[in-house]
Amino acid sequence: MNIDSTPIVAIATAPGRGGIGVVRLSGKDLAPVMAAVCRLPASGNLQPRHATYLDFVQADGTVIDQGLAIYFKAPHSYTGEEVLELQGHGGPVVLQMLLARCLEAGQSIGLRLAQPGEFTQRAFLNDKLDLAQAEAVADLIEASTEAAAKSASQSLSGAFSKVIRELVDKVIHLRMLVEATLDFPEEEIDFLEKSDARGQLSRIRESLERVFAQAAQGALLREGLNVVLAGQPNVGKSSLLNALAGSDVAIVTAIAGTTRDRVTETIQIEGIPINIIDTAGIRDAIEASDEVERIGIERTWSAVREADVILHMLDASRGPTRADEDIVGRFPETVPVIRLWNKIDLSGHQPGVERSTDATHIYLSATDHVGLELLRSELLRIAGWQQTGESLYLARERHLAALKSARNHLEMAAELAAQSDQALDLFAEELRLAQERLNSITGEFTSDDLLGVIFSRFCIGK
Ligand code: GDP
Ligand code: ZN
Repeated sequence: MNIDSTPIVAIATAPGRGGIGVVRLSGKDLAPVMAAVCRLPASGNLQPRHATYLDFVQADGTVIDQGLAIYFKAPHSYTGEEVLELQGHGGPVVLQMLLARCLEAGQSIGLRLAQPGEFTQRAFLNDKLDLAQAEAVADLIEASTEAAAKSASQSLSGAFSKVIRELVDKVIHLRMLVEATLDFPEEEIDFLEKSDARGQLSRIRESLERVFAQAAQGALLREGLNVVLAGQPNVGKSSLLNALAGSDVAIVTAIAGTTRDRVTETIQIEGIPINIIDTAGIRDAIEASDEVERIGIERTWSAVREADVILHMLDASRGPTRADEDIVGRFPETVPVIRLWNKIDLSGHQPGVERSTDATHIYLSATDHVGLELLRSELLRIAGWQQTGESLYLARERHLAALKSARNHLEMAAELAAQSDQALDLFAEELRLAQERLNSITGEFTSDDLLGVIFSRFCIGK
């Protein structure tokens, strides 16, 4: 990716009103903007990394706002370029005025609005952060639970990148050993026996498994579990949602069919986001008379197909209906089903879990809050959550895919090493590929396309 060093500017704080708001600039030479927008102290400049209280002014000298200006000299800034932060009052109009004024004053230096994630992208391109850290910036901002924020911050600090680099170093070490042998064929004889290549490889594979486990758990904190809550009207879906969420998010009423469209509610269990989609009395689209309803039903079915688990709720005091049997026949076989027998306070069942071949059955009462713990721990089990006590890395799907691919290449290498010295060149090639996959996590040799995709998902001003 080419480094575009055109100076950029954006409002860095969230839209809306707040105590303070920040306009941030980054670029090669910000002096003209600084001098025009800020009424500078007598010295004529700002001391780097010091907050100076001053006026932000229009071209004619009228004051836009008063606030703090902080100047960061390159390369000691977030982006590695010169950075100027103007902290004014956090109103949308005043910040827009300040932004417009910066753009006006920055015309001579080509100042333009920043794209989403562009500040962080520059930090990456200027080696202030590696790619995994840059992604962690976005993940920290978007974290939906405290546990997710904690592991994003762990990745941002470079802990995840560090273990990846350590793995890469070990692979490089082994590659050097093998390739030196390839260069001197007379030493190839019994190389695998004499060297500790097999031992080194198996230690690398063990470390990779550990990193993978921590990353997979971290990914869970980021992605959460997608749960579909299905069942006939009035069985108690909304009541369950309310009971789990601890607030009245869904509409509960005794009249059938009140929840028309789907409602998504994210609750957390031990810090894992559980995204629950409450389905509108899931039916066949063909039956629906009006278009809007048909679209709603189609959407529901696509959510069902993509879910990690389906909660199929039934009224334990009435048993399954014909409609339930129809629906069950249409559940995708790939998604596990938990059958929730609700209203046991009416039916007289005991709370509990029963496992059968087709589904897990849980007996509970949503309104009496009985059996909810059974459901919570079953969801954690399906998510594959293990409390390890180890620190987790808020990994993304991209990282897990790279780790899996590296793992496959190392496995191939191990198979080759188990044979003989004949395949040493193939062995070396598998190691090289494994290294390449690991490197892609921190962004060494990453394609421009991928960078574009990653940074475009950031918010503006970050
Ligand atoms: P939904 O249509 O599936 O979302 O069902 P609601 O949550 O709106 O509940 C329908 C009715 O069943 C309401 O009057 C609830 O108070 C009642 N209900 C839900 N869960 C229970 C339960 O565990 N026990 C009893 N006795 N009533 C329940
Ligand atoms: Zn409902």
